[in-house]
Amino acid sequence: MSQIDLSIPEVSIREIRLGSITGYQGTAEDLVEKSCCGHPGNRGRGFSQCAGCSISKAACMVSLIQDAAVIIHGPVGCSSCLHEFEFTYLVNANPRRGIKDPTTRRMYSTNLKETDTVYGGARKLAAAIREVNERTEASAIFVLSSCASAIIGDDIESVCDEAEAEIGKPVVAIFCEGFKSTVWTTGFDAGYHGIVRKLVKPPVQKRKDVINVINFWGSDVFTKWFEPFGVKPNLITPFSTVDGLGHASEAIATVQICPTLGSYLGAALEQEFGVPEIKTAAPYGIIQTDRWFRELGKLLGKEDVAEEVIHQKKEEYLPKIEELRKKLKGVRAYVTAGSAHGHALLNIVGDLGMEAAGASVFHHDPKFDSGFEAADLLSRRVKDYGDVPNYNVCSKQEFEFVNVLNRIRPDILLARHGGITLWAAKLGIPALLVEDEQANMGYEGLVNYGEKVVDALENDEFVKNLSKHAINPYTDWWMEQSPDMFLKEAKKKEVV
Ligand code: SF4
Repeated sequence: MSQIDLSIPEVSIREIRLGSITGYQGTAEDLVEKSCCGHPGNRGRGFSQCAGCSISKAACMVSLIQDAAVIIHGPVGCSSCLHEFEFTYLVNANPRRGIKDPTTRRMYSTNLKETDTVYGGARKLAAAIREVNERTEASAIFVLSSCASAIIGDDIESVCDEAEAEIGKPVVAIFCEGFKSTVWTTGFDAGYHGIVRKLVKPPVQKRKDVINVINFWGSDVFTKWFEPFGVKPNLITPFSTVDGLGHASEAIATVQICPTLGSYLGAALEQEFGVPEIKTAAPYGIIQTDRWFRELGKLLGKEDVAEEVIHQKKEEYLPKIEELRKKLKGVRAYVTAGSAHGHALLNIVGDLGMEAAGASVFHHDPKFDSGFEAADLLSRRVKDYGDVPNYNVCSKQEFEFVNVLNRIRPDILLARHGGITLWAAKLGIPALLVEDEQANMGYEGLVNYGEKVVDALENDEFVKNLSKHAINPYTDWWMEQSPDMFLKEAKKKEVV
């Protein structure tokens, strides 16, 4: 049964909705098998070094909407994640997406103080919404909750509804306080829940030439890919507009680059507005790219176009991929990334002839909101390329990650998030960080990525030197312990 209920303001967290977990050590095949029942069993931690917050995930989806403003209703420290979105917007938006008139990000905090936690912060929030509206003239204002405003019980939804009536534009409450979920990607779902509830309008006219693409801020490969099919992408939500989001219900279909990101929005658009989601995982690796184009062709009634695109692209890129395979044969690669993008990188590892030495992904969703089994890239990876040993679900616990990396000593670390590659460098292991996930998609993506891997392997002098002088903050004692030392026994179905 669908757990998307837009009649209530808060999204159901991933632990409950999808049975998601943040602690596991074993193999990919074992995890896939355990996930079939929907509850693979979470291994909680007796010690935790750090954690992520859902606010940053909700904020990255709403703060990059061109004409919106964001208010975090909480102590100012909860807004510390916001600065990176200005950077993302300015540094990544223009070169990759060619945004014509980039706007300044409009991000604010109600700066809750101790007295507000005693007397309540609702009036402060109402005043902040008024002021932000006057200062920014944004087309919509998003209000993000925090642990503090949730604990004191501020009625954010009512304040937003009253403000909406007063200023005459959408004021969207998003409930993403960090303590609510150990799976911080719940923040994506919270952001989308607010968008679908308050911004997406019922379709006026269905558009046969538009496909929603749920994505981050990577290169736009879709405009070119969709051209032969006679459709164009509606890229959501980074760099979209409030009006553009309102028309997402009119698209002929939805595709997503990553179900960790788009699971909820894709399913919500299908459930509420009948926009069908493509039924297979994103196009990473040759086999999955074949499937994806075929599914796209089927969805659009253009199977012949899909076959032609596959044929042409393979003719162009397979010889280059073959050359890369020769260079990379036998290279042991370790992957670290968010859940679904980790699976995508493991597909790429398989296709480029490397050996998957293991992986640390940040959480695991045993199923997705669409319920499509074909959307599960990890099970596809295991079937298409074989098992992955040393498969860890490790919620960015760096002490576990460094311990594992030190034991396995791969030839290269393939990472999706900044900061993590440092640990490989300290150990003298070449590391590759590719933040633009869309540049790795499709057949051409394999070539792009493979060339970068070759480059990183051939230029390892820096990390080799660095490792001779690096100070490891972890003691020899810890490095000799089993990396799962602080993981508890799995419960069949964790009560959250
Ligand atoms: S909402 Fe909670 S977890 Fe998130 S930054 Fe604020 S205090 Fe920390």
